[in-house]
Amino acid sequence: MLKEISRKNAVHIMLVYTGGCNGCDIEVVNAVMSPFYDLEQYKVMLTWNPREADILAVTGPVTRKMEPALKEIYAAIPEPKLVAAIGTCAIIGGPYANLGGDLGSSDQIVGGVNKVIPVDAYIPGCPPRPEDILQAVASVIPILAGKR
Ligand code: SF4
Repeated sequence: MLKEISRKNAVHIMLVYTGGCNGCDIEVVNAVMSPFYDLEQYKVMLTWNPREADILAVTGPVTRKMEPALKEIYAAIPEPKLVAAIGTCAIIGGPYANLGGDLGSSDQIVGGVNKVIPVDAYIPGCPPRPEDILQAVASVIPILAGKR
């Protein structure tokens, strides 16, 4: 009961890094969720627990190593849930999809997030601007509310 009330009145975003350079994570954690934008006043919060999450935000290309973990995390998030692919890497694999030699191998990259789990919002950029991430979050919240 308490859990249902909390879920209805707040939006919890779980951030998962599946590879990449961490540039997108810095934009989410240090910019979007900073006191400058103060999203918590709108009850939009970060969580590291999939069972509390409403939106799964994924950054980086999906590596072969992270593919099973990403599937497990997605399955652990209760319905209704939405997925946002943040940055070029999460959308199409970014520069990592074509790496070779000492930098890695494209064999180790599955590609964008939608190769592994369904994606509801795509936020392009390398990294995307905080304002673009905020706009995407604001655009999916009504979809989430409609599913509740
Ligand atoms: S999209 Fe750009 S900033 Fe984001 S993880 Fe990939 S390379 Fe880094």
